[in-house]
Amino acid sequence: MVKLAEWRGKEVFRKYGVPLPRGHVARTPSEAEAVVRSGSVPLPCVVKAQVLAGGRGKGGAVRFANTAEEARAAAEAILALEFKGERVKEVLLEEKLPIGKELYVAITLDRARRLPVLITSAQGGVEIESVDDAAIERQPVHPFPGLTAYERRRAARSLGLSGGPAKALDGLLLALWKAFQQEDTELVEVNPLAVVGDGLVALDAKVIIEDDAAFRHPEYAEIRDDRTPLEEIAREKEIAFVQLDGNIGVIANGAGLTMATLDVLKEFGGNPGVFLDLGGTDDPKKVTEAFLLMAQAKPAAVFLNIFGGVTRCDTVARGLVEAMRQVPESERFPLVARIRGNNEAEGIEILRSAGVTSVPDLKSSAQAAVAAARGSA
Ligand code: GDP
Ligand code: MN
Repeated sequence: MVKLAEWRGKEVFRKYGVPLPRGHVARTPSEAEAVVRSGSVPLPCVVKAQVLAGGRGKGGAVRFANTAEEARAAAEAILALEFKGERVKEVLLEEKLPIGKELYVAITLDRARRLPVLITSAQGGVEIESVDDAAIERQPVHPFPGLTAYERRRAARSLGLSGGPAKALDGLLLALWKAFQQEDTELVEVNPLAVVGDGLVALDAKVIIEDDAAFRHPEYAEIRDDRTPLEEIAREKEIAFVQLDGNIGVIANGAGLTMATLDVLKEFGGNPGVFLDLGGTDDPKKVTEAFLLMAQAKPAAVFLNIFGGVTRCDTVARGLVEAMRQVPESERFPLVARIRGNNEAEGIEILRSAGVTSVPDLKSSAQAAVAAARGSA
């Protein structure tokens, strides 16, 4: 999931002709002041923190300014914020428009229907989660014809628009639809979409690029900084590896078993710190690589929970034993294993010969892992 900051989302919107306020990004207070003095953003203006979390309006991360000095002060205050755990590094300055109504429009994927869905609500400007369901209109959109004239008219009705704004909506929806499809997004959201005079303006932009299409968007490579350095290496090696806050490493296979394993450790008072999903990996080299990556995260203990369906237990065990040999003595950690399924006996034997006991019962093995992590921490 590549979530774009508002200004990047607006760049996408601009490309497709969605009407936007005039705006400019600044990284320092003096830059903010200069942006206003140069006239590229007219006064009065809005100064907005460029963070990925929502609720900025309520959280003091959106401010208004009537002069260049005020814009500077607003930028200074916002750039000093840590908004919901994220340090603010940029602000977006925009002309402050006299807004009439605030509306909500989004296109996203309805995974249950397996179709894009157009979501509209006349109650914009607040988080959509807090809007009464009856006030939200959802229309599935067939991807081949795209947003039809009928659906666009129905959207206008749900938003209570007629005349100029309704006409503006028609073009805006087509532009959003194009952006949704052509930019490989899983969400394009405008909240609020504001009625300004006889037209509409997108005051906010939320755009999320599909992860699986990220390779088609080198332009966003630099902003994918939500990964830790180890996660970045893992991604390059196509290893599913995620770092959390705890201290127990988890190696499992398949997303379902991996998640369940994290839950079980938590249940017994453990704190998973990094997890690795081997998926259907049946290549000892890959298992070794993955394990060495996990070792670099310095877990207090590692819990290996493998169910050999397609994956063979002996292959995983072999890769693991090979990897353990490569971890320097001083960096070793206790390993608790539970491997079941395809070629289980061979796998258990390989582990045993390397000094690792496989505990067949899930509860006892998870408890052993939690205890091991406590012991070595
Ligand atoms: P969010 O709270 O993080 O979603 O940030 P938004 O971009 O949605 O801004 C929050 C609120 O600030 C909006 O709902 C508007 O009420 C207000 N706002 C943002 N831009 C403008 C503007 O250009 N003019 C006016 N009058 N209000 C604005
Ligand atoms: Mn918003």
